[in-house]
Parts: sequence; C-alpha cells; structure tokens
Amino acid sequence: MTVRAILEQKGSDVFTVRSDANLETAAKQLSEHRIGALLVDDGKGRYTGILSERDIVRACANHGIQALQLPVSKAMTTKVLHCSPQDNVHYVMEMMTRHRFRHVPVVNEAGDLVGIISIGDVVKRRIEQAEQETAEMIQYIATA
Ligand code: AMP
Repeated sequence: MTVRAILEQKGSDVFTVRSDANLETAAKQLSEHRIGALLVDDGKGRYTGILSERDIVRACANHGIQALQLPVSKAMTTKVLHCSPQDNVHYVMEMMTRHRFRHVPVVNEAGDLVGIISIGDVVKRRIEQAEQETAEMIQYIATA
C-alpha cells in the first residue's frame, strides 16, 4: 500500500501555523482540528518546521505556563523528514518507529506539500486491510 492510497482516502489537507504565532494559538488549532501536529510556515509560503503536541508539552515542562506565550519558532523541530506519495506505507512506519515521531509530511516530485500522514492514518488503513483479508478468507472457506 502506498502513501498516495492513504491520501486518496483522507484527503490532502495540511493545517499550518505561522512561526511567529504563539504556542497558545497553536494549541488551540491542534484542539480545534483534533490533530497532533502543525506544519510551520514563515508567512512567505516557506515551510520552516513542524510543531507537535509534544513540543508544546516540552516547552511547558521547561518554562511553565508562560511557555504558551513563546513563538512557535522557539519550540518547533526545524529538520523535518518527509516522504513522497509513491513511498510504501511500510517505509513510513519504519521512519516513524526509528525517529520516534508520529507525523510525516508528504512532498511530491515538484517539491509541493501534498498531505501529511499520521501514525493514526497508517494504523487505520492496516486494520481495514486486515479486516478485508479476514472477510475474504471467510468467504473463500464458506464457498470452497
Ligand atoms: P510526534 O510524535 O509526531 O508528535 O513528534 C515528536 C517529535 O518529533 C516532536 O518534537 C516533533 O516536532 C518531531 N517531529 C514530528 N514529525 C516530524 C517529522 N516528520 N520530521 C522531524 N521531526 C518530526
């Protein structure tokens, strides 16, 4: 199964936050959209990082509640690893496991951001696939 197949089902929406917005704004966006990470843009159309809920928790642990007034740029990860639509989901799962993150932006050959894959998306598709295989097996046994 490819990353493209997952994006065809879930869509290509990617929620973003400005690097000069504060962490409180970012936390509100995460909560509102029920997601775990935002891509960070610099306001000039360039993606400069990724901010996940873990980055906000870490900032609060280090700076207390005042952390929510810090700019996103102070808490985000700047070296963002991405995948491409034609990558296999196993490759993405391996990337998430090895680097211990749960979100991978998808970038096409032209360098455009075309979606984001989360561990939840991957698990959902793997469960659907397993259920389909089980149903096919039961059907096969019943009609054999
Ligand atoms: P997550 O598990 O995705 O909530 O993120 C855990 C940590 O990894 C946070 O510090 C994120 O900023 C960072 N992170 C998340 N996704 C990526 C990615 N694709 N590339 C690099 N760092 C990431």
